[in-house]
Amino acid sequence: MKYFASRFQTAFRMASIFCLLWDTHSSLAETQRPAETATVSIPPPTFHVAEGLDQDGSLIKNYQRGLQYAIDYFGNYGPYHIYLLGPDNEESIRQIYRERAITRVNPKAEDSETEQIRQYLKQTNVVAEIEKVLKGEKEGGLTWTRETPILYEDVTTNASQRAVDPIENTWGALHEYHHVFQISHCDTFQSRSSDLHINSWMAEGMATYSSAKFMANLGLIDFEDYMHQLLDQGGNIGRPGINEFLSKTKSWDLEKEIYWEQGNAPQVYYMIGAWATAYLIHVRGVEEKVVLRDWYLVIPRIGKSPSFRNHMGLSLEEFYPLFSSFIRRPDDVLMKIFEPQDG
Ligand SMILES: [Zn+2]
Repeated sequence: MKYFASRFQTAFRMASIFCLLWDTHSSLAETQRPAETATVSIPPPTFHVAEGLDQDGSLIKNYQRGLQYAIDYFGNYGPYHIYLLGPDNEESIRQIYRERAITRVNPKAEDSETEQIRQYLKQTNVVAEIEKVLKGEKEGGLTWTRETPILYEDVTTNASQRAVDPIENTWGALHEYHHVFQISHCDTFQSRSSDLHINSWMAEGMATYSSAKFMANLGLIDFEDYMHQLLDQGGNIGRPGINEFLSKTKSWDLEKEIYWEQGNAPQVYYMIGAWATAYLIHVRGVEEKVVLRDWYLVIPRIGKSPSFRNHMGLSLEEFYPLFSSFIRRPDDVLMKIFEPQDG
């Protein structure tokens, strides 16, 4: 848990890049292309691992355990590059950043390939990121390009903890790939409240739910215990958990995009968003694949509000007040939603 927890907590505390897909202040994140769906002939994900970091092959193996599960579930989106880095071999890191620069070469650009690579490697944010890697600082998260060539990247600046924590390594891979799928169906040039983009609770809550559920399907965690932890003390997301947050916060709105900054309360998106996802599946009875996958597919064409209504069987306007009163019930009542239904 330590690795994952620290990633999340860092994200909370510092508004760093992990999972802040929409953070325009991020040094890594870039703005997004217009919505488009998956295309054919997407290459398989590419790993770029610092020399010496994965001597027994388990770092990639345990990442792949999550990634391949997620690709089987969501489909193959990309191109997707996974960077697992560390401070111990500077030459290897500089070589990996040259590889990264090459992936970003636009063959139709006026500048030559050599010039594009040179320009990329001297960008302020790239120079700063390499420095972070060489200092052993731990950051991570998903980033993506705004212009041709379109690609997605999961960057872990110091993957040494990840290398010795198979559970969190797999868990993180599952979580980030759900975001790759989500972003592929969003126009993040728009605001998160836009109908062509998804709200933060949909992004983080659904990825928190799906990654925990898939971890349980892989036999690696107990899903119900995890969902209870989110209520009770926050699980691997952070503190406070849902119950403590709600006891101190009488007025909150799942759809508001203010909690990244205001009161440092992104558990609204991760933890309560995960429970909102559970509500749709286990209370409203919507099929899991519809909630986690299918409803995103038509967002580029019809927008999220009509897609939500069509797939979930109620409008967003109807959903928010129903869920808001649901989540305030006692733990034992909430946990009953996971019990098998008779008949
Ligand atoms: Zn995330």
